[in-house]
Amino acid sequence: MVLYNSASRQKEEFVPYEPGKVSMYTCGPTVYHFAHIGNLRSYLMEDVLEKYLRYAGYDVTRVMNITDVGHLASDADNGEDKMLKGAKREHKTVMEIAQFYTDAFFADCAKLNIKTPDVVQPATGMIPEYIQVITKLLETGYAYLAGGNVYFDTSKLAKYYVFNDHDEENLVVGVRDSVEEDANKRNKADFVLWFTKSKFEDQALKWDSPWGVGYPGWHIECSCISMKYLGERLDLHCGGIDNAFPHHTNEIAQSEAYLGHPWCKYWFHVHHLNTTGGKMSKSKGEFLTVSLLEEKGFDPMAYRLFCLQSHYRKSLTFSWENLDNAKAAYEKLVARVAALTEEGTVDETAAAGLKVRFDEALGNDLNTSLGVTALYDVLKAEVNDATKRALIASFDTVLGLRLLEHAAELREKEKTAASASNEGDAEIQALVDERTAAKKSKDFAKADAIRAQLAEMGIEVTDTPQGPVWKRI
Ligand code: AMP
Ligand code: ZN
Repeated sequence: MVLYNSASRQKEEFVPYEPGKVSMYTCGPTVYHFAHIGNLRSYLMEDVLEKYLRYAGYDVTRVMNITDVGHLASDADNGEDKMLKGAKREHKTVMEIAQFYTDAFFADCAKLNIKTPDVVQPATGMIPEYIQVITKLLETGYAYLAGGNVYFDTSKLAKYYVFNDHDEENLVVGVRDSVEEDANKRNKADFVLWFTKSKFEDQALKWDSPWGVGYPGWHIECSCISMKYLGERLDLHCGGIDNAFPHHTNEIAQSEAYLGHPWCKYWFHVHHLNTTGGKMSKSKGEFLTVSLLEEKGFDPMAYRLFCLQSHYRKSLTFSWENLDNAKAAYEKLVARVAALTEEGTVDETAAAGLKVRFDEALGNDLNTSLGVTALYDVLKAEVNDATKRALIASFDTVLGLRLLEHAAELREKEKTAASASNEGDAEIQALVDERTAAKKSKDFAKADAIRAQLAEMGIEVTDTPQGPVWKRI
């Protein structure tokens, strides 16, 4: 497979550290609110990547953190502690909020057919590991104590801005903008590993440490969780593009300083879902959730198809009109799959030919929209239905559109509707026959009453030389 690596800023042949095995780490959600469909775009495309790697034969182990502590996270974060804000908003404890939104996150993922990672680790469960890594960073001079906090010293690194294809000055300004200037820092890009003196005075969760009672910085959780479950050499690290800096940059800094050797080989970043008003963000108040899509009558699979139709490295603009189009396309696709019979045996030679286009598309930096085109090619191909069904089943282990499942449901629905309509037809025919008999026996009052009853049911009866015929009006 060829994959774009944000660290080298080019497409590279994907070669994991250990042949046949992939260790994959994903930055999980900050659980102070529901995930919006922008967040879920990132998880959805990462899910396709994982599914493709499994399809390609790799033995994948995927790990994800849950940010239930750590507050200097992403979007415009110079106000309150996000977890605490959520707890106040809902009159719950921070841990209740974390549990509730963790469950809600995985429920949304299930609706979008996003597989739960092999390991899911909440950040609060790893305090001893953070302390151990920070202790070593202090011992080796990569970290320093100032004003009660422990900071990572970015000046100790030969190269800090790993993902920086823009200019360094801008990134430094970015740091200054998103996190208030901290007089304790030796260098502007330095970041906190452990807080004891935080601007969030009413911090709910605190732990004892060699540097005083406090809590970890945001970035340390991903380094430690990844190293604990996936070892010292990571193949693949994923996240939304906004995570590249400062979060992933800081993860690399502290992980490599701690390990003393290169850490993660490939960095996979999903670009943003925007609304016509700009980037979708949880902290902007109103935002779009999977439940909202469902309330408006959209199957979450329509959103999945919407995401698959564009490349993960392009930002995507959401509009209801675009989603309507994806919904129509999805329903048509399901109907076409439902129309396939189960007859025949799979033509292996033809199947192999049709598979090439799909494999090439996905294997070329996860080109999902061409992958979907390859699926349409199968539906159009001159092969029997059994071959088509087998290929669709196989492609859908990657695309995750639940096509065969939903096609079976559609067929079942149509069968039930047809038999209901047959039963209805029999009832109508019985009434028409009764009317004919009444007319024959000159009971015109009864015949008229039955005609009126049928009219009320939306049935029109016409007497023809061949006898009465009826139709729905
Ligand atoms: P958070 O819950 O804020 O930590 O974000 C969870 C994931 O969603 C991270 O990987 C972010 O990079 C990603 N993300 C945030 N906003 C968007 C967006 N508008 N579109 C796509 N991914 C996003
Ligand atoms: Zn992370």
